[in-house]
Amino acid sequence: MNNTYPFVLQELPYSYEALSPVLGSETLHFHHDKHMNAYVGNLNQALEPCTDFHGFSLNKILTKLDELPQSAQTAVRNNGGGVYNHQLYFSTLTAPNAGTKPSAALQAAIDRDFGGVEQMIVKLKQAAVGRFGSGWAYVVSDAEGVLSICSTPNQDVPDLTKFAPLMTVDVWEHAYYLDYQNRRPDYFDAFVSIINWDAVSRNYDERSFSF
Ligand code: MN
Repeated sequence: MNNTYPFVLQELPYSYEALSPVLGSETLHFHHDKHMNAYVGNLNQALEPCTDFHGFSLNKILTKLDELPQSAQTAVRNNGGGVYNHQLYFSTLTAPNAGTKPSAALQAAIDRDFGGVEQMIVKLKQAAVGRFGSGWAYVVSDAEGVLSICSTPNQDVPDLTKFAPLMTVDVWEHAYYLDYQNRRPDYFDAFVSIINWDAVSRNYDERSFSF
């Protein structure tokens, strides 16, 4: 994302009912309007005294956490990561079975690096279900366009100087508890039908490592 401090909560690119029945409107209202909104507010509060960082994109901030004043590092890491992760998550979802498909370039990379979309999804599920506690699982690309799966705890993000996240799945309980209670594997299986492959393909085409 290219915007700078003060960061603003981006609206969902679809209605609160659009992802139903995979994710209901109550989940989206809580997840976007309460949880994500809090990360945005807390990020701005943490960055307020860090004027040297006010002109930086969020990607750039997240690659320079160790240059922040010590007192701000944890709050910016947690809340900046929270903003980054939720923007990626919400921007790569669409209505169930909407018919989006990987671009030719992304499909070729998926076939080369995983043996196909199904096999990639199996690995992403292993990362998502295997993440102990709260966190995220991602499909990422390196600078050469080689794809891999990774996972982070809490609101951490992958190393953005080496990996461009193409899509992510939120495995914090707040992402799925109202719809699936404790059944994270069921949430994941349903999540697959709301992946916006057009948006994921765009992220692959536009991957960038200089901020
Ligand atoms: Mn979340």
